[in-house]
Amino acid sequence: MYIDGQWIESHTGNTRDIINPFNQEVIATVTEGDKKDSQLAIQAARTAFDKGEWSTTPANERGEIVQKIAELIRRDKEELARLESLDTGKTIIESHADMDDIANVFQYFAGLADKNGGEVIQAPIPDSESRVVREPIGVCGQISPWNYPLLQASWKLAPALATGNTLIAKPSEITPLTTIKVFELMEEAGVPKGVANLVLGPGNTVGAELSTSLDVDLISFTGGIETGKKIMQAASGNVKKIALELGGKNPNIVFADADFDTAVDQALNAVFFHAGQVCSAGSRLLVEDSIHDRFVEAVIEQAGRIKLGNGFVEGTQSGPLISAQHRDKVESYVEIGKQEGAELVLGGKRPDDPELQDGFFYEPTIFVNCTSDMRIVQEEVFGPVLTIEKFSTTEEVIEKANDTIYGLAGAVWSTDIEKAETVASKLRMGTVWINDFHPYFAQAPWGGFKQSGFGRELGHMGLEEYTEVKHIFRNKKPQPTGWFV
Ligand code: NAD
Repeated sequence: MYIDGQWIESHTGNTRDIINPFNQEVIATVTEGDKKDSQLAIQAARTAFDKGEWSTTPANERGEIVQKIAELIRRDKEELARLESLDTGKTIIESHADMDDIANVFQYFAGLADKNGGEVIQAPIPDSESRVVREPIGVCGQISPWNYPLLQASWKLAPALATGNTLIAKPSEITPLTTIKVFELMEEAGVPKGVANLVLGPGNTVGAELSTSLDVDLISFTGGIETGKKIMQAASGNVKKIALELGGKNPNIVFADADFDTAVDQALNAVFFHAGQVCSAGSRLLVEDSIHDRFVEAVIEQAGRIKLGNGFVEGTQSGPLISAQHRDKVESYVEIGKQEGAELVLGGKRPDDPELQDGFFYEPTIFVNCTSDMRIVQEEVFGPVLTIEKFSTTEEVIEKANDTIYGLAGAVWSTDIEKAETVASKLRMGTVWINDFHPYFAQAPWGGFKQSGFGRELGHMGLEEYTEVKHIFRNKKPQPTGWFV
């Protein structure tokens, strides 16, 4: 762990083995913190914010340090990508792309650091000056998940540093390796002692302390909906600012006039990329009835050819699920789907390949004849499981697509742009893609409607999340009011 500029082990002496989900080998053993370690880190961040110089360091200087982090990530891209693939099982190609995105995120927020200005207000009072300034919020707790370990952490670290906050990061206990490495790079880049702290350990102790502590001013969380609810409750003790990036059950809508082959290819990419362990996975496919059967046939045919395997071997298209426990969850959802009457047409089991028996693999799985009331259609499975439904009118598909508690992302495929735009405008989601699936980038905000959370990461808004707005009014010619004379 990295607390107050020191690399330390937990006072508990406990450790945790980090497992490669491809073969269950132990790839590292890390220290395992508890509540007391979190408290130490919070105190370091509190002191650095209240007594240190980071929040008042000129913004361009903070930006230079954040830019340096981007450069160091590019320098060490190979090592970071290797660690990420070992820790998550994702293909090395994906990890390379993640590292490029992460470096871009630091670079983007580095550039915004000194453009985070306020505004002058034309006050309706003579001889006065009125202005709005943005200031750092203070001590930020940042809790991230295992599916995109460093990517999700970077969306929090970069804007918090650029705006002059101090922070405590808590990566998922099962995938901490790249975050540890980036803390080494942040130290090398010159982030002052106490400004960025790293605690390792379970959510219900280390994470819970960050959301409960009266010394933490903001909690930014990416993870599951049930954890998000606990964090909201815990954060109420001192009315912390909260940003929640939660799950999704994201519709992918294909109209009959869509470019057929592209939509088929992208439907697969939408749901089976990273074995479906993507918050914005297009796990709910809605196909217009006139092309439904042909489309489904093509999707099944291509999905049946997805090559599972070792993410380091060329040609592998998808790795394993993250853990045995998570695979159990996916399997139980497939059972639920069958019991609900959805028709299983592909997968629904672990692969037979003898070379994959040590990993937590699960075959790409497709259900057809699904209806919106099924749990398999409503709930986030977070695995390689696609449900397919039919629709016949635009109104019907809008209603179906919006009919979940989630509102993270969705896509619409059509060559009729007016129709696609109409649907996009009616979807209650934080991101809508037209004739594409998955693109996200540092410049555009990311976040959810409804129970997918609130607050935004990335873009200008992702920076503003880390600032408080202050109005300063100055009377240039103070006069007595005469009221109480
Ligand atoms: P999770 O909620 O189990 O854990 C996320 C993090 O919260 C981990 O670091 C964990 O240790 C910590 N945690 C657990 N209990 C806690 C508690 N009581 N208090 C404080 N912290 C606690 O989620 P996960 O399984 O790691 O990640 C998968 C989920 O993340 C999925 O639901 C996925 O949709 C979501 N996700 C959302 C986005 C997004 O941008 N909206 C991105 C990635 C993942």
